[in-house]
Amino acid sequence: MRSYKVCYLGHDREVVLALERALSGTNMKFMSAFPDGEGVNQALEFGVDIILWDKDNTPLDEPVPIERIRKMGFASQPIMVVVSEGDSESAIKSLAAGASDFIYKPIKANPLPRIIAGLNVGQHQKRVGYYVRMLEEANEGIKTILASLKDPAYIVSPEYQILYMNPAAEEIFGEGLRGGACYQVFYDRIEPCDVCRKGSGSARWRSVLKNGKTYRFISVMVKNPRGEIQKLAVGVDVTPGEEVKKIHQTFISNVSHDLRTPLAAIDQYVSILRDGLGGELSEEQVKYLDIIRKNSFRLRNLIENLIDANNILSGKFKMKMEVMNLKDIVKIVESQLEEQARGKGITFGVQVPDDLPPIYADASRIAQVIANLAGNSIKFTEQGVVQIRAGFMPRDEGRIIVSVEDSGIGIPREDLGKIFDLFYRVESDKVYVEEGAGLGLSISREIVRAHGGTLWVESMEGMGSAFHFALPVYKSKQVASQTPGERQGTGG
Ligand code: ADP
Repeated sequence: MRSYKVCYLGHDREVVLALERALSGTNMKFMSAFPDGEGVNQALEFGVDIILWDKDNTPLDEPVPIERIRKMGFASQPIMVVVSEGDSESAIKSLAAGASDFIYKPIKANPLPRIIAGLNVGQHQKRVGYYVRMLEEANEGIKTILASLKDPAYIVSPEYQILYMNPAAEEIFGEGLRGGACYQVFYDRIEPCDVCRKGSGSARWRSVLKNGKTYRFISVMVKNPRGEIQKLAVGVDVTPGEEVKKIHQTFISNVSHDLRTPLAAIDQYVSILRDGLGGELSEEQVKYLDIIRKNSFRLRNLIENLIDANNILSGKFKMKMEVMNLKDIVKIVESQLEEQARGKGITFGVQVPDDLPPIYADASRIAQVIANLAGNSIKFTEQGVVQIRAGFMPRDEGRIIVSVEDSGIGIPREDLGKIFDLFYRVESDKVYVEEGAGLGLSISREIVRAHGGTLWVESMEGMGSAFHFALPVYKSKQVASQTPGERQGTGG
């Protein structure tokens, strides 16, 4: 049979003698020590199962420091408090602070039954703790898997409250929506959907979400560490054309590289002709050559952008990570954007508080995201305002949210999800025709993802748009866990 080990931490000789006497006829082992560093170490080495902590160790008006005792290394053992007879106030306060029981001193009645009851509680707590840990680990495991999915997934309570959304869901609906009602946030309804109200087990349904894409959902019931039932729903994108899009992407990647070589030859021979090395040119011929040169320059730009986009989308890009302040990153692109806005008579504003916590980021890539978003806002706004704002959100150990808002043409609902696709541009008579290849948003989203963030949009046609992205604030362990200053992209 296992022999339990009991330890008294205190200075009272009489208590030591009484406990020794009470435990002598049992197979329990006993030790006593002063609650100083050495005594605590001895008790830890002894491998105690229950601690009797003398209240005299603590100043009169202070409660028993259960937290401190736990930090000393007694993480899960039951702690009984020894208080002077009549000091019921201390006994009650100790119980409230987390002690498992108390005994009065001088010890008169046999303390053995109370010690055995305490050990029993300890065993029970250990078992419960084990199951809670198992459930917590399982829950964390589920969340890690969900976080890596490219399609939306969420967990809701039986009262339809959103408890968790994975990054893909947050890219559709936005961050900071936990706690809201699922039927309202996800499906714009004023009451729970039938599939949830009527079904109690697993369910399947199809939905067109806010991004205009169609998803097939499946939901199951899961138990959280407190034993409460929650509903986990996972969607799969079944929008027609997804496969075709992937084929396009591969095709583009191959073709963009192949275009580089003949274009370089065109450039070279145009230069030879333009420099007169192929014979004298008329004014007219020089004019034509300049047009060819200008257009080949545009084409080269487009190809370089395509190759950059392809590298980013396939995760083949390295980032130069530094601890940075968002304000300094915004400054990199602020004057250029200001000039662009001024050129169109648009009011441009930047509101970034000085006291935002720093982020761990590739400054030039995040500046590229801000330039893309704000550049679009200026492009698609004919009059009014374009504004960059930033703030702190205390979820997940802190996120910095950057918003780029405009009063421009807005985006039709059915295009909201598609604008993040490669080459997608909204086709509308109202759109003021502007240059652009439809690459900026897909690149921006991938850069933000590679930083552990999400990028999403809110917009109403004719009213304006707001693009938001959220990045985790810098934690000192972030640098230590990576190759200094470098991080690989996430891949498309
Ligand atoms: P590009 O701007 O080069 O066309 P993007 O990927 O940056 O490519 O944007 C894709 C499309 O999304 C744009 O062509 C436009 O139709 C729409 N869009 C993006 N930002 C805005 C905005 N702020 N207002 C209105 N439409 C926008």
